[in-house]
Amino acid sequence: MSVDGTPIPQLIAHKRDGGELNPAELSGLLERYLTGEMDDAQMAAFMMAGVIRGFSRDEAIALTDLLVNSGERVDLSGLRGPTVDKHSTGGVGDTTTFIVAPLLAAAGCQVAKLSGRGLGHTGGTIDKLESIPGLRTDLTIDAVRRQVHDIGLAVAAATTDLVPADKRLYALRDVTATVPAPALIASSVMSKKIAGGASTIVLDVKAGDGAFSATVEDAAALAELCVAIGNAHGRRTAALVTDMSQPLGDAVGNVLEVVAAIEVLRGEGSARLREVSLALAAGTLELLGRPTEEAMGEVTTLLDSGRGLAKLADLIAAQGGDPGVVEDPRSALAAAPVVRAWAPKAGIVDRIACRRLGEIAGGLGAGRQRAADTLDPAVGLEVQVRLGDRVDAHGRCDGRPAVLIHAADERSADLAADALEKAIGTGDASVPAVPLIHRRIGFDAHG
Ligand code: URA
Repeated sequence: MSVDGTPIPQLIAHKRDGGELNPAELSGLLERYLTGEMDDAQMAAFMMAGVIRGFSRDEAIALTDLLVNSGERVDLSGLRGPTVDKHSTGGVGDTTTFIVAPLLAAAGCQVAKLSGRGLGHTGGTIDKLESIPGLRTDLTIDAVRRQVHDIGLAVAAATTDLVPADKRLYALRDVTATVPAPALIASSVMSKKIAGGASTIVLDVKAGDGAFSATVEDAAALAELCVAIGNAHGRRTAALVTDMSQPLGDAVGNVLEVVAAIEVLRGEGSARLREVSLALAAGTLELLGRPTEEAMGEVTTLLDSGRGLAKLADLIAAQGGDPGVVEDPRSALAAAPVVRAWAPKAGIVDRIACRRLGEIAGGLGAGRQRAADTLDPAVGLEVQVRLGDRVDAHGRCDGRPAVLIHAADERSADLAADALEKAIGTGDASVPAVPLIHRRIGFDAHG
């Protein structure tokens, strides 16, 4: 792509005035930013103009291309089965990767998953995986490829060589309030998926207070843009829009979420986490050509027969952890010294501040307040109530405590309990149930 030589202020002004940049202009801009000719202030001004004025679909596709080409790509050619990847835009209690990836590997797919750490109030796959003692996530791209060849599955930390331009842009967006533009989010997410090398990509785009997109409409627009970008880059791509107005699974915290995923793979645990995980795994097989019901039947059988659990054990063993963890994860993994029950007053749950629950778990030590912070793998929350549930006078819902706080000490449990008072509330009136899966986007195009 030729590099455009238009003066940088003129390009920023063009976007400020609602104009669209062509691929050569965008390429010139990014290249000049990466070489230092364009400074952070100019790039931030350009992105803010785009946040306010919007970027076109063509601009989002071109930007993705440029981001992908800024670094290495993972070459997954030569593997024995279809290469697949899944991505969630992130949320609270969202631990589907540890269920979906093993199920897909058990179905004969090749899953090379490069993931990130926790961001803001949301947890990160790599932090969760590292809560298993001895487990390594710093695999080289060659090691990822070898492991996928051997067992069909690897989950590793994204290397700095992959999409380096996104790392710079994301850091700048983070401190200039320019994260929430659909085209910037979609190009950032999809550039990493495309560089990750899989030919089939299923996305879980979250909607609600605990997600980037507060409304289903905004999440659907983001999902459509991601799907369009994936397809334009020759990847079979589709998305589910799922609820994040309340936590997906019950567990919020690193060990707790690994336990929650293992419980689902053992046929126990959260029905919500199971439902979304099965829908994502089945959706992936659908994109590969299986009829909808057959795909759901296949992944359900893989889960119920324990083959998904066995694949997770293979993954843990291959990356240096003890595969025996999957037999009794609550005993095998770190436990918090303080576990305290908390409940709102008796009544029907009518308020759950989902993002706040992620922040409360973060405050207990499950997330980072600063980049250099060390996590406490054992702490977090188990939130066992959802909107519309009835909490009884003993603080229980269906016989279980409404919330369990897992804390490092009594003082942090007190702080979490105080914060929960504002995050979960009850009333007298019934509350309509919120659908778990709002939309399916892009599946028909590949039928
Ligand atoms: N996640 C990403 O990887 N990029 C964004 O821009 C937002 C969320």
